[in-house]
Amino acid sequence: MTTEKVDVLVIGAGPAGSVAASIIHQAGYSVKIVEKLKFPRFVIGESLLPRSMEALEEAKFIDAIKAKGFQEKFGAKFVKGDKVCDFTFKEQHTEGWNWTWQVTRADFDKTLADTVASMGVPVSYETTVTDIQFNGSDSVTTVEDIKGNKSQIEARFIVDGSGYGRVIPRLFNLEKNSVLQPRKALFAHTVDERRSMADEPNRITAVVHQPGTWIWIIPFSTGVTSVGFVGDPSFFDSFPGTQEEKYRAMLESEPFTRERFRDVEFVFEPRVLESWSATTDKFYGDGFVLTGNVTEFLDPIFSSGVTLACVSSQTAAKLVIRKLKGEVVDWEKEYMEPTMQGVNTFRSYVMAWYDGTLDKIFFSAEKRPDVKNQICSVLAGYVWDMSNPYVQNHDTALKRLARTIELTEILKQDK
Ligand code: FAD
Repeated sequence: MTTEKVDVLVIGAGPAGSVAASIIHQAGYSVKIVEKLKFPRFVIGESLLPRSMEALEEAKFIDAIKAKGFQEKFGAKFVKGDKVCDFTFKEQHTEGWNWTWQVTRADFDKTLADTVASMGVPVSYETTVTDIQFNGSDSVTTVEDIKGNKSQIEARFIVDGSGYGRVIPRLFNLEKNSVLQPRKALFAHTVDERRSMADEPNRITAVVHQPGTWIWIIPFSTGVTSVGFVGDPSFFDSFPGTQEEKYRAMLESEPFTRERFRDVEFVFEPRVLESWSATTDKFYGDGFVLTGNVTEFLDPIFSSGVTLACVSSQTAAKLVIRKLKGEVVDWEKEYMEPTMQGVNTFRSYVMAWYDGTLDKIFFSAEKRPDVKNQICSVLAGYVWDMSNPYVQNHDTALKRLARTIELTEILKQDK
């Protein structure tokens, strides 16, 4: 068995892996990425948030992504019946990026991985991590290529960006159940010939279909649009037939999608994903750090996944560099706490979406511009800005605001 030595082994060439590899490589350390699949490969998660741009910029990926001509994204629109709540990232509380992209992930992830490879980081595709042995913070990882050849990689540190693969949590029994209830998605890429150019394609739309069930509409620059239903698994059982029959019947049952997507052509047949929420007890250990989806993935509403993947990797990479320099790193304070701050803020918004709290806020007749801007910053991914009361008090502020809206409406009716 051959053995190779690197400073840092990165598991997975998704956004989490590529961002971490680039930043650590730029600091002068030897880095290698091992990736289970051949790229381009399909993965869901097509709507980015402006905060991800800061991490992509630090990883020096922006120019390569720009060159691909992905659809620029300037906001997010929420629709319920004839009510619309439109957020434009230019109108937000936090200073920062006010736009981002809507991307086909196969192309996007390959762009990041190719860029990091062109910087000099070797990426071994179709190579799966099967075992890791730690000796203090040093490690020996066993990988297996598609032909069944095994080899070993000795590393001073491991960044686990294996996404849904969850390599280290699975190997070391760190898995923990999410507090969010299991949900399911049925989605496809559609050839969207009836797209309205008036209010799209430069934003995504989330349509409230019925309580607990919503639809994502993510237009790409190619004229293809990603459309997905998300809800309780029982919602999907209420439609008979094949996945395609279910999907077409669902599109037909929603006034917002009925005309536009009737008899639409698919780029691929409708696909199902379910029970995606997962977490672990600890996001770090002696010789490793978990980044991206391996830490915690919540829910597709609010498009937080890729942003949390990029930001956690950006934070982790800088700490790995300090650790390799021999500095003392307080992983709990400097990594776990800020990562959880982001996850917990988004979790409050996900819960407020499904329990109807955000419904009252988004679709109320009157909205205070300052409050709307503060909420817009959360939706842009600026969930670490403590000057924003809707970040600082993420667990209570939305409920309080919804209650105030309710009382104001009751008082108006009484007049
Ligand atoms: P990934 O992108 O999953 O990359 C991990 C890589 O690791 C993979 O390429 C995998 O092949 C590799 N790997 C796995 N196991 C091994 C192994 N043993 N050895 C070597 N390599 C391995 N997020 C958004 O930001 N916007 C959205 O609109 C959005 N929509 C979503 C809709 C649904 C229905 C779901 C379920 C999720 C959605 N997400 C969205 C979340 C998004 O998919 C993830 O958060 C994102 O892909 C995480 O990136 P990552 O780099 O951590 O992991």
